[in-house]
Amino acid sequence: MVDLKGQYEHIKEQVNQSILETIESTMFINGPGVKSFQNQLESYLGSKHVIPCANGTDALQIALMSLGLKPGDEIITADFTFASTVEVISLLKLTPVLVDVDPQTFNIDIPSIEKAIGPKTKAIIPVHLFGQAADMEEILALAKKNNLYVIEDNAQSLGAYYTFSDGSKKKTGTLGHIGTTSFFPSKNLGAYGDGGAIFTNDDDLAHIIRGMVNHGMYTRYQHDVVGVNSRLDSLQAAILNIKLKKLDFYNDSRKVAAQKYNNRLIDCQKLITPHRKGDPDSHVYHQYTLKIINGKRDSLVKHLNEKGIPCGIYYPIPLHLQKAYTNELYKPEDFKVTLEIVNQVVSLPMHTELDDDQINFITDTIKSYLV
Ligand SMILES: *Cc1c(COP(=O)(O)O)cnc(C)c1O
Repeated sequence: MVDLKGQYEHIKEQVNQSILETIESTMFINGPGVKSFQNQLESYLGSKHVIPCANGTDALQIALMSLGLKPGDEIITADFTFASTVEVISLLKLTPVLVDVDPQTFNIDIPSIEKAIGPKTKAIIPVHLFGQAADMEEILALAKKNNLYVIEDNAQSLGAYYTFSDGSKKKTGTLGHIGTTSFFPSKNLGAYGDGGAIFTNDDDLAHIIRGMVNHGMYTRYQHDVVGVNSRLDSLQAAILNIKLKKLDFYNDSRKVAAQKYNNRLIDCQKLITPHRKGDPDSHVYHQYTLKIINGKRDSLVKHLNEKGIPCGIYYPIPLHLQKAYTNELYKPEDFKVTLEIVNQVVSLPMHTELDDDQINFITDTIKSYLV
């Protein structure tokens, strides 16, 4: 699905050098590389504050902790995504309210959010899924009207942007009150271990978050709030400092690969290629996800695996049906889209090292099976 080894070969000397310097410095915790990565990411995103942390799930948890919410406050998020969002809401004794997604973009569905907003709603967590921005203009308008916070889960879309109806553009993760991301190795900007970051343009929230990631300390050994220990490792920062300079190039490679997949699959009637909403350049293809519409998704996956082609089903089970998160208030008719697409989606290999032979082999194998 990814070729981290191939990618490493191109940057091996710089990365090794950066790691070695960090080891030689012995500044393993909060070394200078962490601060320079923070500064580099702030200017890349155009975000006033970046607070690095240990992983993307912590980033979401800390973002929620910073808002001063009470147990039982409701947080709206998508039914079709990775479990981190609903997990951290539940851990904090807040109430997750899962809603359906758009059948074309797989991103959180605006009318479903509107329906779910009630007196206890305090925040919306849109996930920019698979590399594409959620409908932020509509989400921000709903949030403003109802006095809600917006936390963007940008774990899959670092480097993507959103175009407003007036033509202005902003990087995903910088549009709401807080944005979060993950540097899990397979993400568009991947470390060689775990890592994450929180972004905000709000000075007060940034201050609260900086203390929260460090045991709730704003002054050394003075614990004002209950915090966590969540740091970006200096060695991971050493790697990310090199890789962030390449992120646009990496995302461009993904876009080129996606366009090649599109060109070769567009005439196949049994599948739907990924929908790009708005500006075609804005999607950074964390995943290249097809919908197989002839009911043969599972047998296609088996066939691809037999041919030595890796593929993935993201995500096979709607979150509202997961044992940990199910709730008798959820009705199947409120999740029509998610319930359908979990049986249709399949993600093809997508990374920065895909070549034409690989793309041709993968697409030929799919087409000859589906005819
Ligand atoms: C990867 C991911 C996360 C979690 O990131 P970790 O660094 O693995 O904790 C959260 N949300 C989404 C949408 C993700 O894809």
